[in-house]
Amino acid sequence: MQCPVCKDVVLSNETLAEDLLAKACRKCQGRWLPSFHYWKWLDSQGLVLTEKPLERVTNVATNDSGAGKLCPECGHFLRHNKVGHGIDFCLDRCNHCGGVWFDHNEWEILVSRNMHCQVHYIFSAAWQKRIQDEEREMTFEQRVEKIVGKNDYARLKEVARWIAENDHKETLLSYLQNASKA
Ligand SMILES: [Zn+2]
Ligand SMILES: [Zn+2]
Repeated sequence: MQCPVCKDVVLSNETLAEDLLAKACRKCQGRWLPSFHYWKWLDSQGLVLTEKPLERVTNVATNDSGAGKLCPECGHFLRHNKVGHGIDFCLDRCNHCGGVWFDHNEWEILVSRNMHCQVHYIFSAAWQKRIQDEEREMTFEQRVEKIVGKNDYARLKEVARWIAENDHKETLLSYLQNASKA
């Protein structure tokens, strides 16, 4: 089996986790995870891990090889989908055989977020739709921050949270509306 990125390198066996066999490229350090191995491992785990929140400090470098790779197992084009949830790289999956390609460090980053047991969900329509919604939300938030500046934005978020959690939410909101007209 050849590396879908380097093409001239034969993938060698690697253990990604206990009882989880994968194929690794010694040149680009990417990994191919065959569908059968993944599901077998997932079943044997029998536990559901809770996703950990994003920690900016653990900023491990990846080298996302981009879209357009071919499946090393069956030769079909790999689907290139965003992971989302604060992770900025994409993963590649073969729709035909179900195998997944991880570029250097991508598996480790997923492990650090407990998302390595959710790989099969990442490629679902529901997951991808949620990422699009998150991004839309993000651009709105970013737009506001850009207009009012970092400090005022932080204050605005604080006030918004205070209002949302307040017992007199409606009164506070209508006061603000009237005050802004005055
Ligand atoms: Zn490679
Ligand atoms: Zn395939």
